[in-house]
Amino acid sequence: MQKRYLSERFEKSPTITETFSVADHLRISYADRDVPALPLIRESFLRAYAYVKDWFDCRDDIAVDLWVAPTQADLEYMTCMRCEETFFCAPGIRDGMNVILFVSPLRCRMNADPDRLAGILAHEITHHVVRDISRATVFSMKRKEKRDVPMWLEEGLCQFIDSEVYPPLRQIRAGKIAGITKWYDREELWDDLSSCDDADRAYLQAYKEVRTFVETNGKEEIIRLLYLNRTHCMNWNDLPGFDTFT
Ligand SMILES: [Zn+2]
Repeated sequence: MQKRYLSERFEKSPTITETFSVADHLRISYADRDVPALPLIRESFLRAYAYVKDWFDCRDDIAVDLWVAPTQADLEYMTCMRCEETFFCAPGIRDGMNVILFVSPLRCRMNADPDRLAGILAHEITHHVVRDISRATVFSMKRKEKRDVPMWLEEGLCQFIDSEVYPPLRQIRAGKIAGITKWYDREELWDDLSSCDDADRAYLQAYKEVRTFVETNGKEEIIRLLYLNRTHCMNWNDLPGFDTFT
């Protein structure tokens, strides 16, 4: 099975030639044929960005550039790997901007629901904010080796936030979680969750643990811990208050 780690290499597709400035720090890069999708993308993008910035109480803006793939083939070119047309990712920083990749709503029907799009963009923006405030490496297969922010915590937080922006995700995940009886050890979820045999279960576990943590300890505590990661004195194995991993 093809593993879907966040790529360590990404390139903009040559078909993406146009840029649209949504704000000083927010940009959409797109192919000519996707002009009709710009109002929808802009509206969802602004909603997602405002939500995430407010959630983390970020004083400074972070620069985000959406690279909108006109086709699935362009997305695969940019991620340098095989992926579904519904795939989104936040592969890193290019020219000082935090890049997010996905397929145009004109090509992928799932991406044309503005509320769902806002939810998923909030997920990807959260990846960038988490790395920005924690200084964690973007290389998600090196997190365990570096004792850096665990991917279960990062993915759990991204899913917590996407389900706040797009609540149907909350109901879908609650239903799936209710049917699961066996969970991973925390150590097994440190690197990219797609490296787990059952990636769906790994993502659900990440979501479950982070939701419990936020509801028990408050979001301020998780934000404090992420900033603490900058000191490299943070021991993520000592985290209190999460669900018991069994
Ligand atoms: Zn994610």
